[in-house]
Amino acid sequence: LAGCMAERLKEEILHREKLVDVVAGPDAYRDLPRLLAVAESGQQAANVLLSLDETYADILPVQTSAGGTTAFVSIMRGCDNMCSYCIVPFTRGRERSRPIASILQEVRMLSDQGVKEVTLLGQNVNSFRDLSEVQFQSVAAPGLSRGFSTVYKAKSGGLRFSHLLDQVSRIDPEMRIRFTSPHPKDFPDEASVLQLIQERHNICKQLHLPAQSGSTRVLEAMRRGYTREAYLELVHHVRDSIPGVSLSSDFIAGFCGETEEDHLQTVSLLREVRYNVGFLFAYSMRQKTRAHHRLQDDVPADVKKRRLEQLIATFREEAARANAALVGQAQLVLVEGPSKRSASELCGRNDGNIKVIFPDAELEDAAGHGAPGRAQPGDYVVVKVTSASSQTLRGVPLYRTTLSRAAASH
Ligand code: SF4
Repeated sequence: LAGCMAERLKEEILHREKLVDVVAGPDAYRDLPRLLAVAESGQQAANVLLSLDETYADILPVQTSAGGTTAFVSIMRGCDNMCSYCIVPFTRGRERSRPIASILQEVRMLSDQGVKEVTLLGQNVNSFRDLSEVQFQSVAAPGLSRGFSTVYKAKSGGLRFSHLLDQVSRIDPEMRIRFTSPHPKDFPDEASVLQLIQERHNICKQLHLPAQSGSTRVLEAMRRGYTREAYLELVHHVRDSIPGVSLSSDFIAGFCGETEEDHLQTVSLLREVRYNVGFLFAYSMRQKTRAHHRLQDDVPADVKKRRLEQLIATFREEAARANAALVGQAQLVLVEGPSKRSASELCGRNDGNIKVIFPDAELEDAAGHGAPGRAQPGDYVVVKVTSASSQTLRGVPLYRTTLSRAAASH
């Protein structure tokens, strides 16, 4: 058993259940050869120690799905935020960032392999700080988004996420860049992440802004470090800075102490922001968390379920409206492959990360080079949207193009 489940359930697994031979926590993968040797000798082997600096920077992953069009690149590990419901700081440890040089090397390798979309991955990507280069260790701490606070002291030094994003986006003009998950607190005005997204044609105009609740009282109990008003102010700032940005979010229904009034505040936030993509869950208490020690999981299961269903229904209605606004527009779609439902249709994603389905037909190339042909995975196709639901767009393909050409024609 490997990863943060191993870290969380180590006692039960090793001592009580005797279910597995090897338990490796998320920072113990370098120790796997030794652990496997111990297991081969007939004993149980475990290493669940968390590290302050392990980022696996020097280990480049081997792509097993050769020919894939999209890839994830891990840029940091752990989290220091200590939201009261969250187990991550306990299972993945403290926040640490991978050196930029190693991230760039991996992205270059993926570009050489023909990957057309990279998602930079971490628990808190926009608080990225690469401390590996001495000359940047004393850089001043950037501020936080207006109206946001943290439980930890401001950290100074290191190369920031805006620097990484700038460098990554320069590697391959035909490669789309996304990132997830940022934390809403780390969009200070002086850092230029929002500006970069607005300016660079290959950084997708899509942002995940996890809200978790629309009630200031619940946000306080969750220790999220912001009020409903501060969050909404950030949403307006993001929409002003990046016109047409696609927004996604996470929400928890039925957190400790959540009243009907709190819940309705979340419903109204979903209406007000109108997200394109949402991840919604009913609260489930985790041992070790602050909520487990200090709060009561007092919303009955049937109430949680009903509130979650209401949130999902509201989210879907609003997402359907947001997506309906795209009907009639041309969207640039990166083709991923045949659609699951029909071999005569292709499936891909637009810049906002919404699934787009369209007929697999002979298409001209925008530049007029070569004979018409069918779009292949990894091709960019301009699709005119003809219908939309809360999760999918459908349309007719117009022509094949490239990311740079599509940007130049706007
Ligand atoms: S919810 Fe996200 S930001 Fe909060 S502690 Fe968990 S991983 Fe960190």
